[in-house]
Amino acid sequence: MSTDISSLVEAAFQGDWSPLIEESRNAPGKHWAEEARCANQDINLFVPLGDGPREDPEIVKHKLGVSLNRPRNLCASCPLSVAARCLVESLRDDDEFGIRAGLLASERSALRAAWQGRVNEEAVQAALHGSTTVLSRLERNAVIARFTGEPSFEPATVARGLGVTHEYLLKLVRRHRQKSQSVSAASSSVHSADAA
Ligand code: SF4
Repeated sequence: MSTDISSLVEAAFQGDWSPLIEESRNAPGKHWAEEARCANQDINLFVPLGDGPREDPEIVKHKLGVSLNRPRNLCASCPLSVAARCLVESLRDDDEFGIRAGLLASERSALRAAWQGRVNEEAVQAALHGSTTVLSRLERNAVIARFTGEPSFEPATVARGLGVTHEYLLKLVRRHRQKSQSVSAASSSVHSADAA
């Protein structure tokens, strides 16, 4: 059975993100966008007016009709690994607008919500052990929380797993501690008020 971007998206909707993420890793490194079919095209084609994350995709498709054919045909002819990378990057950046991998912004919103809610323990463990992997915001937060609470993790390894510098990792840890302190301070004042 041949794989296409729709089957990768379908698997992701079912909760299996691995095929999409694995395929995105086959894209040619930092220069993956050079292989994209939209390279050197008018970018406005890919950001149709009237489409957005809160629109109904069926109404958008009905309203915009043939003007969507060109960008969607370009996406359909994009190398599979590049289309997968394009979609994964848009999810990671929480990119709300524009067509990615042939999906309108309105069609992607459910997938974005699923991505943001994703917490895969394997991905968290991989990052803690230095493997660069694609993380949702919740997974990234989990890595920082575990690293903050567990001094045996090697900072350089975790920084590599998160794709950040050592200095930036320490900044994330400080921010995490401040946030946890303010949450626990707020919680104790609620308990004191309840007890009064
Ligand atoms: S899938 Fe992404 S990279 Fe490929 S043509 Fe479409 S928008 Fe461009």
